[in-house]
Amino acid sequence: MSARAPAGGDARRITILGSTGSIGVNTLDVIAQLGGRDAFEIEALTGSANIALLARQARQCGARLAVTADPARYGELKEALAGTGIAVAAGRSGLAEAAQRPAGRVMAAIVGTAGLEPTLAAAERGADIALANKECLVAAGDLLIRTAARAGGRVIPVDSEHSAIFQTLETDNRHALERIVLTASGGPFRTWPREKMAAATPDMARVHPNWSMGMKISIGSASMFNKALEMIEARHLFDLRPEQIEVVVHPQSIVHSMVGYADGSVLAQLGAPDMRTAIGYALSWPRRPHLDVERLDFARIGRLDFEAPDEERFPALRLARLALARGGLQGAVLNAAEETACAAFVAGRIGFLAMAEITEKVMDRLAGLPAAGSIGAVMAADADARRLAATMAG
Ligand code: NAD
Ligand code: MG
Repeated sequence: MSARAPAGGDARRITILGSTGSIGVNTLDVIAQLGGRDAFEIEALTGSANIALLARQARQCGARLAVTADPARYGELKEALAGTGIAVAAGRSGLAEAAQRPAGRVMAAIVGTAGLEPTLAAAERGADIALANKECLVAAGDLLIRTAARAGGRVIPVDSEHSAIFQTLETDNRHALERIVLTASGGPFRTWPREKMAAATPDMARVHPNWSMGMKISIGSASMFNKALEMIEARHLFDLRPEQIEVVVHPQSIVHSMVGYADGSVLAQLGAPDMRTAIGYALSWPRRPHLDVERLDFARIGRLDFEAPDEERFPALRLARLALARGGLQGAVLNAAEETACAAFVAGRIGFLAMAEITEKVMDRLAGLPAAGSIGAVMAADADARRLAATMAG
């Protein structure tokens, strides 16, 4: 594949939406490994509450603009960057400015639907989107993919499973693709009986066996809602039919996902459970960078296990298939209901299993919303689902 100039500007000029999160911090680490300021220009960084980290990052990488999503923290950020020449902005308009500035590649690493508006804005001007913020695709996949295609930008997955599929998808053999197999670690409750899961606390749920990640995605790995979101994410990224999307539990998180072809071949991408490989690939695509990450030692790993997911204990997977079958705005509804229920679980208001129960009830109540032509329709469905879920969560 030859390098191409993205429609949205120089691919070495980068904006990171959500630089202070787990993916954001890893992205800056990868950028430092790939030559830092000699190799990349950082156009804008955005964060929310952690102003000290955001200011330190902006100084270190010489960002042109730093944005906090929280308007109340504008003064604090301004003060922290006084005398540096780094522009400062806040709130929704600040996020929009960060997205609109001329970076050729934008790392979308905000968590949840909050990332949708700025990610769409970056896609609208043709930037390549390195997409970690899977909720964007779950809530508004058709819209985001269409917008990027129309403007001439690419959506390059950062989620490790989707990066694996992106890396093993033979574009010349697209017609021979039969299925994709998403791997799931099974999370900390993989072997727990349902009764024990019912009493699980947020502290038990947030401890992931293999990956170190933000709060929401860690809880989502325990409930397998993360995999549910990833099934819908895959449908939009790779234009798949629902029945082409399989999930297998693979506790070691070494095989990041697989693509099955018409000749019986299955191609897989393997690596240590370290997001920096997928991040580096998304920042460097179509090239593969050199990265200082752990190399797999197969003799030491010894074995790779696979098992069928248990949908009795993990109903999230069934709900993803329901959303895929119903279509329309069910992805947006599932996503918003789950985000709200997850917050209620973390706050101690509901039990672990209630997250799926509430999400399913909200999906049933809001079934039949037609596919969205605009971000307004998506955000309206999102707001309705949040309101219903919050009421059910008490
Ligand atoms: P995180 O919670 O560690 O970080 C989230 C980032 O979003 C922070 O920079 C935060 O300041 C910002 N943010 C939070 N609320 C915001 C709001 N209302 N408005 C604007 N910005 C806001 O999350 P993370 O684990 O880095 O995950 C980020 C995204 O990447 C998620 O969509 C997640 O599903 C996806 N992802 C993460 C991993 C991982 O290993 N952490 C792996 C695959 C995909
Ligand atoms: Mg993933």
